[in-house]
Order: sequence, then C-alpha cells, then structure tokens
Amino acid sequence: MAVSDGRNLLVYKELGLVSQVFNEATLATLQGDLGIGHTRYSTTGSTTWDNAQPAFKTDGQRSLALGHNGNLVNTAYLAERVGRAPGKATTDSDLVATLLSRTLDRGLWDGLLEILPSLEGAFSLALMDERSVFAARDPHGVRPLSIGRLPNGFCVASETCALDIVGATFVRDVEPGELVRIDDRGVHGERFAPAARRSLCVFEYVYLARADSRLRGRTVYEVRRELGRRLAVEQPADADLVIPVPDTGHSAAQGFAEVSGIPYGEGLMKNRYVGRTFIEPSQSLRERGVKLKLNPIPDVIRGKRLVVIDDSIVRGTTTRQLVLALREAGAAEVHTRITCPPIMWPCFYGIDMSTRQELVAADLSVEQIREYVGADSLGYLSRDGMVAATGSPSDSLCTACFSGEYPIAVPEGSGKFLLEQPTKS
Ligand code: SF4
Repeated sequence: MAVSDGRNLLVYKELGLVSQVFNEATLATLQGDLGIGHTRYSTTGSTTWDNAQPAFKTDGQRSLALGHNGNLVNTAYLAERVGRAPGKATTDSDLVATLLSRTLDRGLWDGLLEILPSLEGAFSLALMDERSVFAARDPHGVRPLSIGRLPNGFCVASETCALDIVGATFVRDVEPGELVRIDDRGVHGERFAPAARRSLCVFEYVYLARADSRLRGRTVYEVRRELGRRLAVEQPADADLVIPVPDTGHSAAQGFAEVSGIPYGEGLMKNRYVGRTFIEPSQSLRERGVKLKLNPIPDVIRGKRLVVIDDSIVRGTTTRQLVLALREAGAAEVHTRITCPPIMWPCFYGIDMSTRQELVAADLSVEQIREYVGADSLGYLSRDGMVAATGSPSDSLCTACFSGEYPIAVPEGSGKFLLEQPTKS
C-alpha cells in the first residue's frame, strides 16, 4: 500500500498475502487521506520484493507510487527508452514508474499525459503523488477499472465487489483511453488516447472476476449461470448429478442443472485454508495433489454418473487429478464440461498463460484431451456460446487465447521481449 497525508508519500509492501503483510501495527503507521494498494499476480518479472507493488519513485522532492493490473507488450521499447536505468525491479510496471519519475518536476498529471500514449498492451493503473490519486485504462479497456463514490470522497478499484466492501457506490467505469484524477476537488477525467476497438478480457467473466462483481452492468454470477445454461444445450450429458468445481463452477453448474433437469449437488469440498498461506507445502503434502485443494465427498457421488462443471482447462494436470479423485471416491462416470472453448493461444495481456507449450489444447484435440484427463466424456462451450452469455458484442471482447486473434498487436517472438521468464505467484 501507499498512503499520503498531503505532504509525505509512504509505501509499505512485502511478499506474501495481504493478511500476512498487514497487521494492526503496520496499518497504524499508514496515516493519510489518500492511498493506493495492489496485490500483484506475477506475469512479467519474478516474485521478488523489488517487483512487489506499488512501485515507488522519487526525485528527492516529489514522489509517485504505481500499481498496475495487466501486462505491456512493448517492454523492449520501454526498456530502451529507460536505458535499463538503475533499480532492481524487472517488471513492465517499474519501467513505466521510472519513465514517469523523470517527469515529476512537471507534475504527475502532465507526465501521465505524455507517457501513457507510448504504452502498448493491457493496463489498468492506480497511481498517486502526495496530493492526488490517478487512474488510467488502456485504450482497449482489456482489464476493468471502476470508479466509486464514498460518503467523503471517491475511489477506484479493479473489481466492483471491492467498492461494495468499502461502502462505495458505483459511479462509472474509467473509460478505455481515459486518465482520471481524484483530489480534494473531486473527479476529473481526460482522454490520453482516442477510443480504440474495445477488448474487455472475456476470461474475466469465465474465471478471473469474483461472482459478485459487475462488468458492463451485469453481475459475473449471472453471466456464469448463463454460461452453464448454454453449455447444457451445446454439450448435454446423460447423468445423475451436476457438481461444480469450486468456486467459479458454482453458478455455471446451477445454470447447467436448470436447463438439463439433472439435480445439482456439492460433490467437492474446497479447502478454505489452502491459498491462505504463503508457505510452500511439503513434498508429502504436495503428493496429495488436487486433494489439498478439493476433496470429493463420497456419500454424495458414490455410484453416480457425474457432470463436472469447471471454468477452464489450461495444462490439464489438475483436471486429470480431479477425475481420478472422483473415480476413487466412487463416481460411476465422470463427464467433464467446460464453460469456455479450448485455450489454444498464450495471453500477453496479464494472465499467466505465456507459452503454447503449457497449454494442453495447443497440440491435442478434444478427444485426445478427454483421454489425457481420463473423463468418460469432455465438452467445451463454443466461442459463440461464451460470447453470447456475456451479453456483449463479439467485437468488443478479447478472445485471443481461444481464437488467436489478438486485438493489440503482439511483437513477433514476444517472449524474448519479456524482461524475465514469467513466474506464477
Ligand atoms: S488472451 Fe484470453 S486471458 Fe488474455 S486478455 Fe485475451 S481473453 Fe483475456
């Protein structure tokens, strides 16, 4: 987090989960009227303290802090422009912070209007100096960014569920290509780039966003339910019970059950405590595989022909372990249904699917994937079905990881332009 009392900008960041980094004592030191926060999902650059955000830069007189959701594709150009200046951070976000720090004498607003047009790729940015908070969204609007009103001010967040939690009411989205400033005079927005083809990431609906968030006016819960309904029509199954893979599969499984008439049940219990620790599990625990996270409930599934609703298959290893675990728990048949099409292309806009090699659908047919994961049948929702469920026109969404049609040009051999090999946090 970064906070300011109007005179001093202070950043407190650490590796780990929010609940491990912040406690009463650390929070008590963060005093001020404005602030930003970021939990980083590593795409470009490794998981190190320097790469944790907010990135902080100062020219000795003025300072800035920056949080970045997304991924830039012209990092080679930006790195050249920066001259790989001093600093240990290796992220695209740090390059942007460095470029901005060189404009601080003119003020962050002017610096942003100069630098933002040179960024290519996906970015939803939250920034601040000592006196103002700024927000900016790339001209394609790949990642969401919403403005909320508080009783005594304003806020921006990458998901509307965060606005609900702090008691803010949704005002509007930051427009693609818009820079917004929030200060004691309120909210002021200005375009830094002309409108481009809108390309909201469709995977936000499928997997990333929380079900209680709203995207383009629709709750993600309702869209996922519709994904399930359409999946039941496109990929029916002869089965006794529909079960979700928690958590994203819940709403889709309800939609599937509603249309198919097959009863809905909870056959997998999610371990609430895994994912809440930053400690690597021991080898013996890791060998427990998927059961660390998801444990089948034998009394629910024994002897049943199951339809298992999951959001996506990336590498296929988890699905394979899951099918095996369900069989061991007594399932008679396992029919796997996926609420999106096969992921065949890497994402260069901020999701950690960076090479084709790690995508099981890049080389295998649906039948070969079925065989690999060990399911009795496997069905994916079509691209048209997925897009229709969102309620948005196809040409206003990014679907590149399914179609290979990238809305923002990705430089040839882009992998080598990354400053480091991506790692998963
Ligand atoms: S490539 Fe896929 S995951 Fe990446 S932004 Fe586009 S739709 Fe989203």
